[in-house]
Amino acid sequence: NTSANANLFSRLFDTLDDPNRLAIEMLDGTRISYGDLIARAGQMANVLVARGVKPGDRVAAQTEKSVPALVLYLATVRAGAVYLPLNTAYTLNELDYFISDAEPSLVVCDPSKADGIGAIAAKVKAKVETLGPDGKGSLTDAAAKADAAFATIARANDDLAAILYTSGTTGRSKGAMLTHDNLASNSYSLVDYWRFTDKDVLIHALPIYHTHGLFVASNVTLFARASMIFLPKFDPELIIKLMARATVLMGVPTFYTRLLQSPALSKESSKHMRLFISGSAPLLADTHREWSARTGHAVLERYGMTETNMNTSNPYDGERVPGAVGFPLPGVSVRVTDPETAKELARDEIGMIEVKGPNVFKGYWRMPEKTKSEFRDDGFFITGDLGKIDPKGYVHILGRGKDLVISGGFNVYPKEIESEIDAMPGVIESAVIGVPHADFGEGVTAVVVCNKGAEVTEAGVLNALDGRLAKFKMPKRVFVVNELPRNAMGKVQKNILRDTYKDLYSKK
Ligand code: ATP
Ligand code: MG
Repeated sequence: NTSANANLFSRLFDTLDDPNRLAIEMLDGTRISYGDLIARAGQMANVLVARGVKPGDRVAAQTEKSVPALVLYLATVRAGAVYLPLNTAYTLNELDYFISDAEPSLVVCDPSKADGIGAIAAKVKAKVETLGPDGKGSLTDAAAKADAAFATIARANDDLAAILYTSGTTGRSKGAMLTHDNLASNSYSLVDYWRFTDKDVLIHALPIYHTHGLFVASNVTLFARASMIFLPKFDPELIIKLMARATVLMGVPTFYTRLLQSPALSKESSKHMRLFISGSAPLLADTHREWSARTGHAVLERYGMTETNMNTSNPYDGERVPGAVGFPLPGVSVRVTDPETAKELARDEIGMIEVKGPNVFKGYWRMPEKTKSEFRDDGFFITGDLGKIDPKGYVHILGRGKDLVISGGFNVYPKEIESEIDAMPGVIESAVIGVPHADFGEGVTAVVVCNKGAEVTEAGVLNALDGRLAKFKMPKRVFVVNELPRNAMGKVQKNILRDTYKDLYSKK
């Protein structure tokens, strides 16, 4: 009885009407229909089962982006197992932590890493299969010979479909346990909210080891029966060319700033597109405005995290407010609480953002204490992000709780100062951090990136801020640098900045 089967991909594939419908298009002209995709996932699921992967087992994968790598995700979930993608940048040393922590029964990796990963996998008695960037390896060799028919294994709503490790921006990555219902409910919700139809063509240029590229981009496309142009990496000129026949782009903010650097970006080159979505990190209000002016499209910014999938989105119709992340998605509740008393705050008051809904994960893998401490008794998840809800109901993110600067006993919200600095002529972006200070506890410090040739100086920035900010918020020092350190998802790594400037205000 398939209707009782809550398996994510049972919902996706059991009702397929037209197997010839296009699912994935590659740059080399390869076109993969939904029928092909299901058959390939069936073949690979049969290989997984033959390798002893059982429902509930973890299948860990550190693979470059390719169609077989995506098929592995579908196959793992169809086999009732738990998909666990790993950032392709992780070194063997880092993989040792993730693999020991997750104890997968199978690890899939690049052929060049088979020896190193093999030694790690052996410690947890995991089998190893290979899959290279060209889609070739022992896994696809075996799949090519396997049967395509596979009855998707029944799962309950609450069973795990995936464990995704968080990006590690604020500390060691944690494994977020995501259920079939977490992923399915969010996918259906986003298809609706963003008006996806089977006519849509998504430009997929994100990595698929992260929630953004795997769940938001791929799941939403598949649930809508739309198609995606699968790109191995972000390439601005190519994307602008593809915009002539695609309809949606999902990107991190750096996609948008880099696309804006191309003279080829214009109203004309983007007229076939219906939607540009940004997330995973804050989109500068300036970028939002510049994009609107150049293309005539207002970027739709949304807010999500590994633990919760998507929480909020700017509206499809209605104002997409620069600097805001929009409204809670249907069925999702968002509130802001006082970090000390946990009391719910009024509109416009800044505090901790908390979220509740079918999108919210089941907990951190093998971290029951951590899980408990991040949930309120009434089921709200404490995101760790600071923000507010404005009088119109739009949610605004004001940075990470961990990035809050406490200087002389006063709370300083970095975003407030960053917005002031970012608005100065010649400035591209900035990051404000707290650095240990012998007198104040933390000293407010600004790191600024400016346009080539712009004359932005420490004295100039301080002068411009004087009178606009309360004394306790004023940076003690301003540094002009060429670029901010970012991780693969375009997130500014403030921990690196804090480390760089850590001795700035210590007493000699
Ligand atoms: P870790 O939890 O390991 O420190 P991380 O929080 O960066 O890493 P992710 O789950 O990839 O890992 O990122 C989620 C975070 O990204 C959110 O908590 C939020 O801080 C940030 N984020 C996502 N979308 C937006 C957005 N539109 N505006 C501002 N911040 C955003
Ligand atoms: Mg996080």
